Amino acid sequence: MIMKQTENETLTQKTKPVKVGNHLIGGDHFTLIAGPCSIENKEHFELTSKTVRSLGANLIRGGIWKLRTSADSFQGLGKDSFNFIRQTLKENNLSLVSEITDPRQIEEIHDFVDMFQIGSRNMHNYALLKEVGLTQKPVLIKRGFAALIDEWIKSTEYVRKGGNENVILCERGIRTFETATRNTLDLNAVVYVKNRTHLPVIVDPSHGIGIRSLVPQMAYAAAASGCDGLIIEVHPNPEKALSDGQQTLNFSEFEVLVKQLEKILDAIGRPLSKN
Ligand code: PEP
Ligand code: MN
Repeated sequence: MIMKQTENETLTQKTKPVKVGNHLIGGDHFTLIAGPCSIENKEHFELTSKTVRSLGANLIRGGIWKLRTSADSFQGLGKDSFNFIRQTLKENNLSLVSEITDPRQIEEIHDFVDMFQIGSRNMHNYALLKEVGLTQKPVLIKRGFAALIDEWIKSTEYVRKGGNENVILCERGIRTFETATRNTLDLNAVVYVKNRTHLPVIVDPSHGIGIRSLVPQMAYAAAASGCDGLIIEVHPNPEKALSDGQQTLNFSEFEVLVKQLEKILDAIGRPLSKN
């Protein structure tokens, strides 16, 4: 699956698109995924999802279970949120990307989540990867923050071996010696992986840089690098967000980002998807 290349040899793999709900990731159009880091309550989720969708997002993101560094931090609403999430998505015809942290959650949210996210901390959780490989649900594998590109690509094999070919990669920044920014967004990885595999690649500039005012520039840089889409954290009031507020855009910041992003996408001939 990983194509070897000798120095100065050009090799570009044709990306095999993956269908998520009614949306195609990795085709002729660019994908925008947006929403809160954590789903906080019904009103908040409904408002955020409808707003980002109306501003151009194709798919909604939102965490039901959160893997937090501190056990005292908000851990996500879990089961209490299933009914209102299901209802909000149905009433507004939206598709959701949400992280699973435990194999038991696969069955619990299978009917209303359109793509399972495997978080950075779980990229090496092979038991979890094998379990999602037994479904046909698309899987977004975030790069482990200390994972080599090669290890990240190999993690996809755990899903594909089970029969699930609907795998998408997500570069979300790695831990380097640099501490000024939360992580170091590795755009090398994007062009490398796009060049050597057929997997669609999404970039997460929110976790990648971790500083709200700098997220848009990294989003534009990622788009220009040739990735297949972006996943961005948005909240009606980031200062009050229960997780990751410091890197989360408000609605007007997101609106500006989409307008600028569209100019870059037009320049590289990869327009933002309309569905
Ligand atoms: C997230 O998407 O909110 C998240 C926790 O991401 P990561 O696993 O990349 O830290
Ligand atoms: Mn987050």
